[in-house]
Amino acid sequence: MDLILRHARIAPDIDRLIDIGIAGGKIVALAPQLGAQAEELDVGGRLVSPGFVETHLHLDKSCILDRCRAEEGDLAEAIREVKQAKAAFTPEDVYARAKRTLERCILNGTTHIRTHLEVDPGIGLRGLEGVLPLVKEYAWAVDIEICVFPQEGLLNNPGTEALLVAALKQGAHLIGACPYTDTDPHGQIDRIFGLAREFGVDIDMHLDFDLDPGEMDLSHVCRRADELDYGGRVAVGHVTKLAMLAPDALSGAAERLRSAGVALTVLPSTDLFLMGRSGPQRGARGVTPAHRLLHHGVTCSLATNNVLNPFTPFGDCSLIRMANLYANICQLGATAEIARCFDMITTRAATLMNVPRYGIAVGNDADLVVLDCTTPQAAVCELAPVLYAFKRGRRTVTRSPPVLHRPGL
Ligand SMILES: [Zn+2]
Repeated sequence: MDLILRHARIAPDIDRLIDIGIAGGKIVALAPQLGAQAEELDVGGRLVSPGFVETHLHLDKSCILDRCRAEEGDLAEAIREVKQAKAAFTPEDVYARAKRTLERCILNGTTHIRTHLEVDPGIGLRGLEGVLPLVKEYAWAVDIEICVFPQEGLLNNPGTEALLVAALKQGAHLIGACPYTDTDPHGQIDRIFGLAREFGVDIDMHLDFDLDPGEMDLSHVCRRADELDYGGRVAVGHVTKLAMLAPDALSGAAERLRSAGVALTVLPSTDLFLMGRSGPQRGARGVTPAHRLLHHGVTCSLATNNVLNPFTPFGDCSLIRMANLYANICQLGATAEIARCFDMITTRAATLMNVPRYGIAVGNDADLVVLDCTTPQAAVCELAPVLYAFKRGRRTVTRSPPVLHRPGL
């Protein structure tokens, strides 16, 4: 073996201490007191988790607060400001900002990322060109997949479709959508399904991003996923309209999502910042209750979305913080519910992205994090720091636990 992590706690059986044997980048043994010889790291009874899975992150437009106004703080202003800022993006500029954000993700224990990049005549392919080199450069720490999408509309924005096609040919891994900025939302959804089938790629759409529960594009997406046999390959982000549904209607929507095989990502930081600022829903906090959808068997994840831009002027790329933020907003107190928040940044998120060989089991990739705590609930409740991270068995992060300097010592 190449490495043995000694005295690890692994959920759900956290009362037992287990050694994790790693060879060739994979987990090859799980047992108390492994006898083999290898480099050893004693994690002292701390929680070892599979690496965190970031299902939704905008690397291209991260860290641009210094070039944008964020005064009204609403979605329209964010789209307007970023549209203006991105006209001046160069691949070098995107590369530098994305790299900074990416390194923060790695330091916070993330080992898989789906990044959403804007493609349209305003930015062309410069966002993609800035991020593509990072996929290879940081493969030692994180698997990055690129989802290209038309933030400013597709059918209303001539030239966008050709750029999306070019992006897929140049290495983008899947396609996204943003029907709520299109003059023909259903038309955009249909066209995106068409392109996805043509290129044989998965779909991850921004969807239903306001607090008016009347008309929902979600039904149309579920219908197309059924008709085109795309279940398990479609994810949707935000869907904040669901936050406004009465319990019965929410259960109905959950059943629909589950039966169509459509997964859902909640972006608590952005949704809280942008939603419920004005109009009849003023004061509503606008975060979809994913824990209720989980009870119906829907695959759900919690993700970061934006970092330091007018959509979300906050961000440290910590998925543990997202899980904690979500648990606070949704007033979750039960141990099992809080543990499910942890699942939504690990196993559930990996299911949404169809990540192969994920999780702590023999034969899976040794993508691991060691947290300064002993249970998943404690990780979420205490915002436990990541002390070590491993990508395919190689250590990528070390963080020393803090030291208390008492007087007289
Ligand atoms: Zn997004």
